Amino acid sequence: MLDIIGIPVLTDNYVWLAHDADSGETAVIDPAVAGPVLEAATSRNWKITQILNTHWHPDHVGGNADIVAATGAKVTGPKGEAAKIPHISRAVGEGDEVRIGTHVARVIDCPAHTAGHIAFAFEGALFAGDTLFAMGCGRLFEGTAEQMHAALAKFMALPARTLVYCAHEYTQSNARFALTVEPDNEALVKRAEAVDRLRSRGEPTVPFSLAMEAATNPFVRAGSVEELARRRAAKDSFRG
Ligand code: ZN
Ligand code: FE
Repeated sequence: MLDIIGIPVLTDNYVWLAHDADSGETAVIDPAVAGPVLEAATSRNWKITQILNTHWHPDHVGGNADIVAATGAKVTGPKGEAAKIPHISRAVGEGDEVRIGTHVARVIDCPAHTAGHIAFAFEGALFAGDTLFAMGCGRLFEGTAEQMHAALAKFMALPARTLVYCAHEYTQSNARFALTVEPDNEALVKRAEAVDRLRSRGEPTVPFSLAMEAATNPFVRAGSVEELARRRAAKDSFRG
């Protein structure tokens, strides 16, 4: 298995380090910043060899330049946004393979939050960027509800035990919104309580399983594109 650790940075971002002990390779996924990422790697004696970017937003690529300068890491990012990814050395899209040592990820195209957004699906670990969040999904900045519906369907076709490593701790707000959609969903009520307990102790709610999303995420559970679009619009103006 990959050793995966989360580094909380900025207001609510998670940068992920994925380390393969056999090869000594370490990838950093969506480095918003460089400093805390380099520190976390150094303190574990992990050498960062690659950067994987899911999309071009500054809170996902802001650390690229300094991490490349410090480590010589190679940058893999989305084909559709290659021009906006600092120091990109490999542009990838649907079906391409990305390796960390012997661990292989399949690249999934999931445009919606941005026009070229990709995700990295390792066995048991999905790096989803800003597409799927715990009980939520990304805002539709450059894409459509139809695209988000298709992206979430691709994710949900992965094994249910797959753990999702998303890029933000938006879980509590997402839970409050989800409860307005499905107040009687028992799994959701329980999960919201568990999330509140974790956050009151300052603990992360990420990663989480796809099985949990199937039971509680109002965007995954939307019965149609139209329903997803309505829920996304309602969440955009939700203040909870
Ligand atoms: Zn984003
Ligand atoms: Fe983001």
